[in-house]
Amino acid sequence: MKFGTKAIHAGVNPDPATGAIMTPIYQTSTYIQDGVGNHKGYQYSRTQNPTRDALQKNLAALENGKFGAVFASGIAAIDCVIKMLKPGDEVVATNDLYGGSYRIFKTIFEQYGIVFHFVDMKNTSAAQNAINENTRLIWAETPTNPMINIIDIKALASLAKDSNAMLCVDNTFATPYLQNPLDLGADMVMHSVTKYLGGHSDVVMGALITAKKELADEFYRIQNSSGAIAGPMDCFLVLRGIKTLHLRMEKHCENGEIVARFLESHPKVDKVYWPGLKSHANHDIAKEQMRGFGGMISFTLKGNNLEDALNFVQNVKLFALAESLGGVESLIGHPATMTHAAIPKETREKSGVVDSLIRLSVGVEDIDDLLKDLKQAL
Ligand SMILES: *Cc1c(COP(=O)(O)O)cnc(C)c1O
Repeated sequence: MKFGTKAIHAGVNPDPATGAIMTPIYQTSTYIQDGVGNHKGYQYSRTQNPTRDALQKNLAALENGKFGAVFASGIAAIDCVIKMLKPGDEVVATNDLYGGSYRIFKTIFEQYGIVFHFVDMKNTSAAQNAINENTRLIWAETPTNPMINIIDIKALASLAKDSNAMLCVDNTFATPYLQNPLDLGADMVMHSVTKYLGGHSDVVMGALITAKKELADEFYRIQNSSGAIAGPMDCFLVLRGIKTLHLRMEKHCENGEIVARFLESHPKVDKVYWPGLKSHANHDIAKEQMRGFGGMISFTLKGNNLEDALNFVQNVKLFALAESLGGVESLIGHPATMTHAAIPKETREKSGVVDSLIRLSVGVEDIDDLLKDLKQAL
């Protein structure tokens, strides 16, 4: 089955009781058993739920994996991956990382004896140098937030293999429509389902996908034991959102490209970070591992002035000033004062998060209105 067909049909079967074509919201905590030990595969909703099952199967199919597990948030999915490790185990992670991922690594898991190394993965050799005999996991995010860096998944997968470590890729920005890390050699894929997969800014959820039974067993063991499950109503909303993932992503890519090219040609704009542009540092790797370049764009203003950037993000009318991304509506953010405000100025500027950096999540509105808005604000 091809992607658009899988998005609509994978994991989803008509309800056996009524024939309802849409998977019902099984809003139940428990299931009646015919006799002791005699049940229909469902005993208690922390452990299994039919609405959640349908979504997990759907996501597994979209990522070309075999098993999916969904959690109460993207962070809860990350929590599950790190809980597979033991004190003394080491993790090599992308330095240009989603802030919440950095926070759970540093403030939660470091105190349980897990060691984290943050390296610039644009150069695979930096990852290689950080690996030692205790390395159990390589954690990569590509494209990254907010610098839209691209990391070579295949190269990391071969490093992971050589060093007996697992590779997990946070595929939130690309979505399975644009990139499938498992096909490139990753062991696991993680998603903040909150973003493009849900797609309508109405759910917080996370997911893990793998093709390996031994990893899936760990996902389900930890999902059930730690309990950060996704509820049936949220699973229903995401199942509905995913039915149009391929349509939305086509439009995000199309609008993204037009906005990136417009910004690149505007006299007040300095740098534009979008992997589809030839000027992007890792455009060649992006072309190899992605089928499209998405709707996430960062850019800086000439003069690199904080006031100019703050004026700009407040002068746009259609782009909504908000954290998050990946919904149908266009959002705008100012990393230096919003998502990355906690990082010292010098540290953030080293990775490119300067005062005039602005991040766009280009939505699927009419492109003429988006361009008009950006033009008037510039
Ligand atoms: C939002 C996000 C997360 C965290 O997911 P939540 O659903 O907010 O818990 C992790 N990684 C990336 C890249 C994200 O954008």
